Amino acid sequence: MKRTMHKNHYEVLIIGGGISGAALYYELAKYTDVASLCLLEKYEALATLNSKASSNSQTIHIGDIETNYTLEKAKITKRTAKMVEKFCLQYKLEDKIMFKHQKMALGVGEKEVHFIESRFDEFKDLFPYLELWNVDKLKTIEPKLVYTDKAQTKVRPEPIIAMGTNTQYTTVDYGAMSEALAVEAQKITEVTTDIFYNTQVVDIFQKEDKTFEVHCKDGNTYTAKFVVVNAGAHSLFLAHRMGYGKEMGSLPMAGSFYMTQKHFLNGKVYMVQNNKLPFAALHGDPDILADGKTRFGPTALMLPKLERFKPGSFWEFVKTLNLDRHIIKIFWNLLKDADIRAYIFKNFLFEVPFINKKLFVQDARKIVPSLSVEDIEYAKGFGGIRPQVLDKAKEQLLLGEASINPKNGIIFNMTPSPGATSCLGNAERAMLEIVKHLGLSFDEEGFLKDLTE
Ligand SMILES: Cc1cc2nc3c(=O)[nH]c(=O)nc-3n(C[C@H](O)[C@H](O)[C@H](O)COP(=O)(O)OP(=O)(O)OC[C@H]3O[C@@H](n4cnc5c(N)ncnc54)[C@H](O)[C@@H]3O)c2cc1C
Repeated sequence: MKRTMHKNHYEVLIIGGGISGAALYYELAKYTDVASLCLLEKYEALATLNSKASSNSQTIHIGDIETNYTLEKAKITKRTAKMVEKFCLQYKLEDKIMFKHQKMALGVGEKEVHFIESRFDEFKDLFPYLELWNVDKLKTIEPKLVYTDKAQTKVRPEPIIAMGTNTQYTTVDYGAMSEALAVEAQKITEVTTDIFYNTQVVDIFQKEDKTFEVHCKDGNTYTAKFVVVNAGAHSLFLAHRMGYGKEMGSLPMAGSFYMTQKHFLNGKVYMVQNNKLPFAALHGDPDILADGKTRFGPTALMLPKLERFKPGSFWEFVKTLNLDRHIIKIFWNLLKDADIRAYIFKNFLFEVPFINKKLFVQDARKIVPSLSVEDIEYAKGFGGIRPQVLDKAKEQLLLGEASINPKNGIIFNMTPSPGATSCLGNAERAMLEIVKHLGLSFDEEGFLKDLTE
């Protein structure tokens, strides 16, 4: 990747080189007349944290099999999720970093079967490719869901049904996509597009002339007219240091996986979500970097650090949690609910050696009734952290993404799941704000033609 001469003033400076930072870097370079852009990344490469393929489930969450999405929400997510697909097709990345898999939402038991049937009716106009698969169809396309024994002779007693498709792009290596976004941005030679690695931002100040001064751990200082902080779990940490977002805290929820020993499921199998715990239901996903072995998960465990598999970040966790009576009230409200309490406890046990695998298998048998402890291994080194946002004013755990925009030339984005799917949509929002603030021109026609349907 190109690295240009060190110049320390830019029109726009982006902090964080995960998929969110890379998507904004690309959109600004490609669709605006910004003169100079800089991306500062703490580590030695792009996407070494949550956007890396082994950290997340690699799914394009469009809204068709995500049973916690309402139809209205799915209309919005469809547009932004399609941007990921359109970007990959535009640069011929299909079957290289983006793949088609069969995918489905599975209903188990009478109540869930009715739920899937009525959801199918409601969603089939928005997603016309969706099919309803009964037990006979599932016997041929995903037989492990149907039988209670490995020889596949005994059908599970409870009714099952699924809504799904096998015609769509479903899976992306978001780490490779981060690289592709940066490479394509740097091909646009009219714009200065610098990236500095091993550059950790420690503080940001707004100067009297309204521009920003960004201080880094290595002693370097950068200035910019507009700054966007896409630093994942560290976005709120940096916001707090500037005095913004004090009404929020962040709870780092680690997600781990279990991996099968060989090819297992033919496609992605998601389950009906509990509305109290969206995105908490386990799913099975063929891993595109592991010969199609199936990854089951993710689990959910609060970790006292902001970065998985990296040393440090405990104090950053403490500061970002922003503990006070409002945060304690949020925890209390969560723990008061028996379902949530059971879920938290179970997920804690999923990380305890010796008993974890057995317990996890019991849960995952809702998807594959014949699953045994021999079929799976704890996927060491896989998984990441979802920085869930805590809203102190409402005393609520927010389940989606959040953004702090004081409207003075700086934005902080917090991106728990499914932040990778919405990277280009979130970038669009920030880009439009930057265009307005700096008086840039924006090639709206080109943007809509390239990235939307
Ligand atoms: C278990 C799990 C499963 C998931 N599954 C899915 C899925 O299937 N589909 C989906 O769409 N999403 C999924 N997600 C969510 C998705 O992975 C994230 O939303 C997305 O990767 C966030 O990207 P990001 O660029 O905002 O943050 P990150 O990928 O965390 O990147 C932040 C970057 O900022 C850098 N940085 C941090 N601090 C500083 C600093 N001070 N100075 C400079 N740089 C800094 C970091 O080094 C990093 O490169 C999942 C997440 C988890 C944990």
